[in-house]
Amino acid sequence: MTDTPAPPLQLFNSLTRSLKIFEPVHSGEARVYSCGPTVYNYQHIGNMRAYVFADTLGRALSFKGYALRHIINITDVGHLTSDADAGDDKMEKAAAQQGKTAWDIAAFYTAEFKRDLDWLHVRSPAKWTVATDYVPRMIEFAKRIADAHCYELESGLYFDVSTVADYGRLARAVTDEGEARIEEVEGKRHAADFAIWRKTPAGETRQMEWDSPWGRGAPGWHLECSVMGEAELGMPFDIHTGGIDHREIHHPNEIAQNQAYRGCGSLDCAEHSGARLWMHNNFLIDRGGKMSKSTGEFLRLQLLVDRGYHPLAYRLMCLQAHYRSELEFSWEGLGAALTRLKRLVMAAASVREADPVAVADRRLTDLLAKFDAAISDDLNTAVALTLLEDAAAMKKLDAGQKRAAIAAMDAVLGLDLLTIDRADLRLRPKAATITAEAIEATLVRRKEARAAKDFAASDALRDELIAAGVEVMDGDPLGWDWRLEA
Ligand code: AMP
Ligand code: ZN
Repeated sequence: MTDTPAPPLQLFNSLTRSLKIFEPVHSGEARVYSCGPTVYNYQHIGNMRAYVFADTLGRALSFKGYALRHIINITDVGHLTSDADAGDDKMEKAAAQQGKTAWDIAAFYTAEFKRDLDWLHVRSPAKWTVATDYVPRMIEFAKRIADAHCYELESGLYFDVSTVADYGRLARAVTDEGEARIEEVEGKRHAADFAIWRKTPAGETRQMEWDSPWGRGAPGWHLECSVMGEAELGMPFDIHTGGIDHREIHHPNEIAQNQAYRGCGSLDCAEHSGARLWMHNNFLIDRGGKMSKSTGEFLRLQLLVDRGYHPLAYRLMCLQAHYRSELEFSWEGLGAALTRLKRLVMAAASVREADPVAVADRRLTDLLAKFDAAISDDLNTAVALTLLEDAAAMKKLDAGQKRAAIAAMDAVLGLDLLTIDRADLRLRPKAATITAEAIEATLVRRKEARAAKDFAASDALRDELIAAGVEVMDGDPLGWDWRLEA
C-alpha cells in the first residue's frame, strides 16, 4: 500500500522513563496485563480512562499485527482502604455498610463495571482474572519467596524491600511522597515493607478468608497481581498497565515480588521486573471534586448518560488527549467531544453501506501511513483522530475504499463509526419529561405549519417544545434539529 515500510511501534516505558521499540517476548504475540478495578463501588470516569487507555493499547497492538492476549483482573479481596497496609479491606467495609455479603458486592459492581466497558466499546480481554480464584496460587507464590524475602508479624507476612535490588525504581519518589503515604504497622523493618498475607485478627472472622502457613487470612493486594500475571501470561510478559498512581506503590511492590519469585537481580534489565514495559495513563482530573468516591454523587459514566451524553463522547474525549497527559474533565469539553463524534458519524454514514475494497487511492494510502506513524509514536491518538476526520471528509473518492480506510482507523480508535448512527447518539436526559417520539411528532407538525406559512402555529409548537425542555435547533449545521436540556 505504501512505499515506505511501516514504522516500528514505540511505547513509553515508565521503568526507564524512555521510549522503547516494542519487541515481543514471544514472536508475533503481545501479552498485556492491566490492573483492574476493586469492585467495592462503582468506577468513576477517571478509572474508566485507565481502561480506555489499555483498550487503545490493545487495539494498536492488533493493528500492528500482533496476536493480543490481554488480561484484566477483578480485585474482589485484599485491597485496603489505604493504598499502603493500613485500614480495612475495601470489600469487607462496603459489605458491612450495605448489609450484603462481600461476594454480592463483588458480583454487583463487577457487572456495573463491565456494562460501562461495553458502553465505551472497550473490547473484552482474553480473560478476566478474579483474585479470589487464585488464592491457592498466591499461597504457593508466597511460600516460594517467604524464607528469603519475608518476615512474619502478628498482623501477617511482610515483604522486606531491602532484599531486592533497586526497590522503588519505578516510583523514583519513594523516599518522599511515596513513603510519606504509608502508615506505620508496628514491627515493620522498613516503612516501605508491605503485606503479602494479612492474618485475620484473633477473635474476628472475615467473610473472605483462607487458611495459609501464616494463619487464616487474606492475600495482600500486590501479591494478587503478581500471581495472576504470572499464571496467565508467564513471566516476563510484554506490557503491564495501570493508572499513574500505581507507579508509586502498587507496581513497585509487584516488581519486588516478581524479582524475588524469579530470583532476579537489578532492574537495569527491565525484564527482571516481570514485564518488558510498564505503562501508565495519567489522571483525569475534575476541579469540581466530583471524582472522589467518598463525596456522595461522583462522576460515573451513568451520570454522563443521564445527562444525555453518549458514552462514546467520553471515549473520544479521552482520545483527544495523549494518555500520558493529564486530562481535565468539563461538561463543555464533553459537549464539544459529542459534537465532534456526531460530525464523524455523519461523515461515515455516507459510506456505511458500501462494500469495502482495498485502499489504492494515493491520498488515502498517505493518510493511512500517517495514521500508522501517529499510533506507532507512543499512541498519539490526538493526531490519529484528526487523520480519521481527514479520511471521513475526503471527497470524490471511491466509497468502498473510503469505507475500508475508516474501518481500519476506527479499529484502533474504537468509536464504532460504521455501526452507530445519529439517532443512537441522541440520548434522552433522565430528567426529561417528553419522549423522543412526541418531540419528533411535534417537529413534523411544525414543519407542516412552516411549509403552509402558518408562522403563528409554528411558533406555538416551538414554545410548546421549549416548555418541555426541548431546544429546537433550527439551522444547526449538523442537522440535529433538537436537543434536550439536562
Ligand atoms: P482502582 O479501582 O482504585 O484500583 O482503580 C482502577 C484504575 O483506575 C487503576 O488503574 C487506577 O490507577 C486508575 N485511576 C484511578 N483514578 C484515576 C483517574 N482520576 N484518572 C485516571 N485513572 C485513574
Ligand atoms: Zn494490580
